[in-house]
Amino acid sequence: MADEPCTSFVCTWDPSVGRSWAANRQRTAVNNFYLVNKFHDHLAKAPIGFTEAAGNFELINSSGKGKGGDPVIDEPLDGASTAPGGLPDAGHIDNANMSTPPDGQSPRMQMYLFHQPGTTYPDGDPFIASAGSDEADVVYHEYTHGLSNRLVVGPDGVSTLNSQQGGSMGEAWSDWYAFDFLNAQGYAPDTSAPGEVRVGDYVGAGQDLIRTQPLDCPVGTTSTKCPGTPGAGPGGYTYGDFGKIIGAPEVHADGEIWGETLWDLRGRLGSKLTESLVTRAMEPGPGRPVVPRHAQRDPAGRPHDLLRP
Ligand SMILES: [Zn+2]
Repeated sequence: MADEPCTSFVCTWDPSVGRSWAANRQRTAVNNFYLVNKFHDHLAKAPIGFTEAAGNFELINSSGKGKGGDPVIDEPLDGASTAPGGLPDAGHIDNANMSTPPDGQSPRMQMYLFHQPGTTYPDGDPFIASAGSDEADVVYHEYTHGLSNRLVVGPDGVSTLNSQQGGSMGEAWSDWYAFDFLNAQGYAPDTSAPGEVRVGDYVGAGQDLIRTQPLDCPVGTTSTKCPGTPGAGPGGYTYGDFGKIIGAPEVHADGEIWGETLWDLRGRLGSKLTESLVTRAMEPGPGRPVVPRHAQRDPAGRPHDLLRP
């Protein structure tokens, strides 16, 4: 792993050594636990208001509204020993996910290690040897799937974000709420220069590996930080790019259209007003997206939202 940029972006394990992740296990778990609880409290506050009554995640609903008994089941190093020798297998690397059942049932957040054992850096696997639990925007992205899948629901409380378009909006909301909070806290600066707000900046060591380009890529920009894709062209995406960004419909890629749009809106209206508008628009209304979901579901039939394709 000698070629990895492990100095400017700290590596937390050695993919060539079994159980090397154990050295940082406690710190990784504490970090993930802190971020999950920090974001819970952020979302509960006005103007977002993802409270007990709104169907949030709580061990005990002290208000008596909503349903308790559904704290987030948080798995900070999920699958770290699924391959022989104390290493993660190919199904538990370079990603993260969140499965969200109706209110009263716990969601499950699975955070994987990054950089597949047995591959070279960067050609074999461009992610550095790190953990999703250590990157706040990755944790917040997954947690926001819990928000959207609890707010955009049918009469039975089951998420209706089950179409290509709905799933794409789900990915966009997850990126947007993560960076809305991080920017407001001062952790994700966004000047007038395009291409600064990057999902997965840490695990990808400053490269656009999780999304095709940063969130702050306005339509028409010629910045090299916002290269777009061969299918969609350069600069910020528009609705006309739907299904074209990576050459076929895909919820994470197509979600970048809505994510960049919401980031533009935040730039015009500010964080708090945009939080209010975006959240109120997600809450149950008469016209919900009800086209059958193309995204994955876990064996219990719950939406199973990944960080990346
Ligand atoms: Zn996602």
